Amino acid sequence: MTANEYVKSRFGRFMEECTYEEIYTALLEYVKEKTKERESSQGKKKLYYISAEFLIGKLLSNNLINLGIYDEVKEELEKCGKSIAQLEELELEPSLGNGGLGRLAACFLDSIATLGLNGDGVGLNYHFGLFRQVFENNLQKEEPNPWMTPQSWLTKTDKTYRIHFGGFTVQSRMYDIDVAGYENRTTKLHLFDVESLDESLVHDGIEFDKSQFAKNLTLFLYPDDSDESGRLLRVYQQYFMVSNAARLILDECAQKGSNMYDLSDYAVIQINDTHPTMVIPELIRLLMEKGLTMDEAVSVVSKTCAYTNHTILAEALEKWPMHFMQQAVPHLVPIIYELNNRVNKKYNDPSVSIINGDNCVCMAHIDIHYGISVNGVAALHTDILKETELNNFYRLYPEKFNNKTNGITFRRWLLYCNPQLTSFIEGLIGPGFKKDAMELEKLSAYVSDDAVLEQLLKIKDARKVILRDFLKHTQNIDIDADSVFDIQIKRLHEYKRQQMNALYVIHKYFEIKSGKKPVRPVTVFFGAKAAPAYIIAKDIIHLILCLSQIINNDPEVSPYLKVVMVENYNVTLAEKLIPACDISEQISLASKEASGTSNMKFMLNGAVTLGTKDGANVEIADLVGEENIFTFGESSQTVIDRYARADYVSRSYYEEDEDLKRAVDFIVSDEMMEAGCKENLERLYNELLNKDWFMTFPDFHDYVKTKDRMLEAYEERKAWAKMMLVNISKAGFFSADRTIQQYNDEIWKLDQ
Ligand SMILES: *Cc1c(COP(=O)(O)O)cnc(C)c1O
Repeated sequence: MTANEYVKSRFGRFMEECTYEEIYTALLEYVKEKTKERESSQGKKKLYYISAEFLIGKLLSNNLINLGIYDEVKEELEKCGKSIAQLEELELEPSLGNGGLGRLAACFLDSIATLGLNGDGVGLNYHFGLFRQVFENNLQKEEPNPWMTPQSWLTKTDKTYRIHFGGFTVQSRMYDIDVAGYENRTTKLHLFDVESLDESLVHDGIEFDKSQFAKNLTLFLYPDDSDESGRLLRVYQQYFMVSNAARLILDECAQKGSNMYDLSDYAVIQINDTHPTMVIPELIRLLMEKGLTMDEAVSVVSKTCAYTNHTILAEALEKWPMHFMQQAVPHLVPIIYELNNRVNKKYNDPSVSIINGDNCVCMAHIDIHYGISVNGVAALHTDILKETELNNFYRLYPEKFNNKTNGITFRRWLLYCNPQLTSFIEGLIGPGFKKDAMELEKLSAYVSDDAVLEQLLKIKDARKVILRDFLKHTQNIDIDADSVFDIQIKRLHEYKRQQMNALYVIHKYFEIKSGKKPVRPVTVFFGAKAAPAYIIAKDIIHLILCLSQIINNDPEVSPYLKVVMVENYNVTLAEKLIPACDISEQISLASKEASGTSNMKFMLNGAVTLGTKDGANVEIADLVGEENIFTFGESSQTVIDRYARADYVSRSYYEEDEDLKRAVDFIVSDEMMEAGCKENLERLYNELLNKDWFMTFPDFHDYVKTKDRMLEAYEERKAWAKMMLVNISKAGFFSADRTIQQYNDEIWKLDQ
């Protein structure tokens, strides 16, 4: 049955006589049915990828592509006078993730299904997601972000569990989202919800009663943890997630014939960052309920779990006070004590204890002692884990440490988001790259082909026009499609250094004012959400929004420079911004960005990277060669050494660099005070001048010089197009299919 026939059978009318809402409803069902047909029998061993976040993005078009019917359905719609783009607008983006970590989990699900692996995702069904960002008076405000509509991708299952907390019990329910692999099998994302949830607890933006656990567990992802009640709630959420996961895993394994002693023949669990760590003591507890001794249960679980580390930022390595555990999950406390005793008896080294001197539980330490694998997410990151951050553990368990450089799904980040580039590539090298991303290397045959290079530039120009129209239509933003598009989109964090990019903008503003005009206008794009309690991050957003107001309204400057901060940056916006990008900003302080994945999406779409030698940028540079990337800034070793010496004084750089001083002082200038709030601007100014913990000042000069060099290089259009082509041709390594193949070969060992 074609989509149109399905619509007819559903509504008694063909597409041309249906509303977009009706077509959307019908297509949703049509796709769900098609996806079901691809469910294949389960092998013996199964992967459970547990993650607090799955930033899956909209699913309709992606599912159509993976089912191989996108073009067919698009044409059917067009024949009936309907556009697929308008249909897509009806779908709400689930905001079940925060940034790279959640997007990675989503890309991994796509690759697991595409490679035909037996593996499901497990997470939580947050009703209001992270939050929806709105700008008011140049400030970020947070609103709930509801995404579940009566017709959605969620399927209610009859799987429910009773989950016990200290003092009360809740009933859970599992909802499923089908994950269609690209021309392969369907797997599942299991999202657990609590039956007693009460959405009406939410009032005044994202405020709610944090103490009513039975009613609030799945309201939001990452509730504000700036106070004790918010932190405690996170423990309740995490336990709710993993207790459900553990029960599901044991049920499914028992059904397939496991006697529990052989659990690791039936299940492997990937723990995505430390949020799901409690699955280890919870599984031990449940196995002991089934009659295993503690020794037996520990031994079984220790063969089943693997841990991925995503960051070396100290504040992100979770440590929960023991009294939180006592209150939320008292039944896990004796197990955690026993796990700690075993570690202490064996190693007698407080730095590797599970319970630290402040009586807090170090979640990552549980994962490392009681798992089979510890992996970092880019080569540099894994080296830093081994040599510094987790060195004490590396010396105990060198065999557990391994690297799995992140990847992205090319279905979403090329085939779907950039059909123009996709069909151009296909015309040159055939369709093989869609299944085997390394075939993109074949493009290197064209680096000196003028016609190809010219066409590449044309496609980029076309994508800029599409972005311009999209931003006009959705956010009423005006941009010049003939300008250079310089884009930094990622969560707002000081280590990612949006503030350094803002200082560059101020520097350019002064240059233009003094008559030094760029040969071609530049548009600097930002997109970023700041955690609601992260004050300085919100001050940086305020700075950018004020700059945008001042610069875009200055008739002397705005013909040459524009600053755009898109509202509510999410996957849908990324899909529009990335294909249009010329300059990909990857400027984190070296050693601080574990991997990054937007850097990969950008290179795949023909942007050239402006980056520090950090995370996966290092691997990009190795692949494309120094002549096809613009790197700058201090090395990770220099940075690590400076932190060790603790002798960084930002003010001394400020006093010695006039351009830097002028830019920093502008933050508290009269113009800025008029556009913004004194309190926020002064706080940020003082932070930079007296602290600058992520060392923007030492890199500022090199950053400005390198970006200006890049803008010059942009004018050599043919040479620039060559760089674009080389970047695309070398992007194959960053396919999540490669990453997942490595996870499977080296950690999961599932049948394929
Ligand atoms: C890819 C992606 C990220 C990760 O970006 P980084 O620059 O790697 O931090 C964050 N948010 C969204 C919406 C993404 O698509």
